[in-house]
Amino acid sequence: MEGLQLQSQTDKKGKLYVIGIGPGSVEQLTIASRDAILNSDYIIGNGTYLDQVKELLNDQKIIRSHMGKEVDRAKKAVELAEDNVVSMVSGGDANVYGMAGLVLEVAEHHELDVDIEVLPGVTAITAGASVLGAPIVNDFAVISLSDLLTPWERIEKRLMAASEADFIISLYNPKSRQRNSNFRRAIEIIQKTRDGSSPVGLVKNALRGDSQEMKVTTLDKVLDYDDWVDMRTMILITTPESRIWGGNGMEKIITPRGYQRKYDY
Ligand code: SAH
Repeated sequence: MEGLQLQSQTDKKGKLYVIGIGPGSVEQLTIASRDAILNSDYIIGNGTYLDQVKELLNDQKIIRSHMGKEVDRAKKAVELAEDNVVSMVSGGDANVYGMAGLVLEVAEHHELDVDIEVLPGVTAITAGASVLGAPIVNDFAVISLSDLLTPWERIEKRLMAASEADFIISLYNPKSRQRNSNFRRAIEIIQKTRDGSSPVGLVKNALRGDSQEMKVTTLDKVLDYDDWVDMRTMILITTPESRIWGGNGMEKIITPRGYQRKYDY
């Protein structure tokens, strides 16, 4: 590790890692991401994500940013990366409604000569799916219900299209204080074209230790959980091809891949 630090000091050229730190605990981080964080001069990110990787923070310089300050954060990171090794940490995967796009846009716009490497992470849909068993073993669509940067009409159109096309649908950003009704409105749209018996899984704080919670229900009953859903929850709406196995809070959702059509097992 010392050797690598020395290299970053003597080799003047900087580097920016845009890191998806996964759903929560440090165990879910890739080894490449862990090494990048350990060997960076600066770590930049919002407080929640910095706290998630705090056991990897030693003598790196830490820049805490805030929600809503993403543009400033991206600018700061690319500036610093002109002559420092910088890790920007972002939740889940940095490509999935994360900081990767903004960082590249800022570097492109300012024509900055920075070496940027995006490191992938476990995103909420795969984290949540693993908690629920095997609900996405077929084609799926991921839709964010946040209408801060996307007009609500476009979100509705995508919900309708994905539902009609029979995709398993994962909903991110289901709610916030300002957008409390988006989850209910989205479910009502999907209910128009999808059978009410379709299994639905809801996972709050997936892979975040003791704070993880999950619910398994069906599309016709999912609005019973409307009050329970919050901004730390991801939702998976399957199709009638999927099924629920088990009970007593230990339910799993199984989506068949299609092996049963060709094999006996
Ligand atoms: N880049 C992140 C997603 C950012 S959008 C990723 O790849 O996971 C934020 C939304 O992701 C939240 O509102 C929630 O719907 C979902 N989410 C992120 N982490 C989650 C977790 N550990 N458990 C459940 N949902 C999560």
